[in-house]
Amino acid sequence: MAQSVADKFLEDSKSKSFDLRHRQIINTNIDKYNLAFERGISKFQDLENSKKKANLIKWKTIENLDRYLLDFEANFTRNGGQVIWANDAEEARQEIAKIMEMHQAKSVVKSKSMATEEIELNHFLEKKNIETIESDLGEFIIQLLDQKPYHFVTPAMHLSLEDIAKLFHERFETPLEATAEELTMKAREILREKYAAADIGITGANFLVADSGSIAITENEGNARLTTAFPKVHIAVVGIEKVIPSMNDLDLFWPLLASHGTGQNLTVYNSLISGPRKAAEADGPEEMYVILLDNGRSNVLEQKDQRQGLYCIRCGACLNVCPIYQNIGGHTYETTYQGPIGSLISPHLNGMKEFKHLSYASSLCGKCTEVCPVGIDIQKMLLLNRRDAVQENLSPKMEKKAWGMFTWAIQKRRIIDFFGGKTKNFFIRNFFKKAWGEQRELPKLADKSFSQQYKERKKNS
Ligand code: SF4
Repeated sequence: MAQSVADKFLEDSKSKSFDLRHRQIINTNIDKYNLAFERGISKFQDLENSKKKANLIKWKTIENLDRYLLDFEANFTRNGGQVIWANDAEEARQEIAKIMEMHQAKSVVKSKSMATEEIELNHFLEKKNIETIESDLGEFIIQLLDQKPYHFVTPAMHLSLEDIAKLFHERFETPLEATAEELTMKAREILREKYAAADIGITGANFLVADSGSIAITENEGNARLTTAFPKVHIAVVGIEKVIPSMNDLDLFWPLLASHGTGQNLTVYNSLISGPRKAAEADGPEEMYVILLDNGRSNVLEQKDQRQGLYCIRCGACLNVCPIYQNIGGHTYETTYQGPIGSLISPHLNGMKEFKHLSYASSLCGKCTEVCPVGIDIQKMLLLNRRDAVQENLSPKMEKKAWGMFTWAIQKRRIIDFFGGKTKNFFIRNFFKKAWGEQRELPKLADKSFSQQYKERKKNS
């Protein structure tokens, strides 16, 4: 019988959690992030107020999503761009293929985009013999390894400098002891030619600005700018939840994203692109398309209680503070969006039946909610997902039986007190050890129950 997604998740979690090298790399990288993050948020005069404001703007936008998307479409079209609506991954891929055919495109340069990861665009284009190259350094490394991003902000977070130097040595014959700067220069040298030669540039976008009909791209390497400036055609694949009402809102969202994503005041490059090149402009594409991707987002929107999940600006802060993510790593989730926010939205994007287990992969410590710059109550939403899974009758039979027995027994004090601690511990050790996990010590129950001890003490006092 094929292994279920949930069983694979448990198996991979178990092995990753005890992979000490993995833990060391992640701890080092997250320590660096933490330092930068503290510096980044210290620049806000009143961070809590900024978060509240961001939450309010996102609430207003998501509650009126249809209106803002139509505004974006009207304004972007007026600027000379074309908007394509894609219900799912297949529709998005086919629309991209049509544009490729129309332009007889043979090569694509891409900048980092989780929406294109979601629709598995690279493999689709490869099958069509279209050369596709990732231009973001982290994504470029991941592409060389044929892996998926480990983290949606820092895709190669699980690799050390030595790992990358070894990879470049094998692929491009750079010295094994090459420094980070030397490796970056090598990647730049390879990529430069690709920008100039590519037929089409593909990007995502961090925001869709409704009132100006623009896309906003945030980055640190300048690669997205080159991706959108050189090729004659630019396609942006963007999730529908990325819309914000006005250009003025960037004043709030850009610093929130930069400080929570990488600890910067602002990222090095912030581009606003409002359609194809105009007659008097020196660079930019001749044609520009924005693919508005639903791909399950309407399912999140349908959840009145959990639609807050769509407020996410993908800063990655909740991943970095999550004790589960730090232990099991990003690949274990087997979803485009990992960590707490991934656990919240993936069951709605990819199916509650297959992905409900992710909502249980949380200690509910609340750190994710505490750091979220748009104030998503993540741990509460995870509990609501669990509620939905139970209400939809998706819990395994054994679990239902176990809870049924527990509920029956716990309501009968005489039965609970009839067995002593030794019997109870024997029962737990023999029937629950597997579910508890081999690496954890089972708690030992006292010889007498709390109720018995309480009564005794009261009697003796
Ligand atoms: S849920 Fe909040 S903290 Fe997590 S990635 Fe989204 S915006 Fe950032």
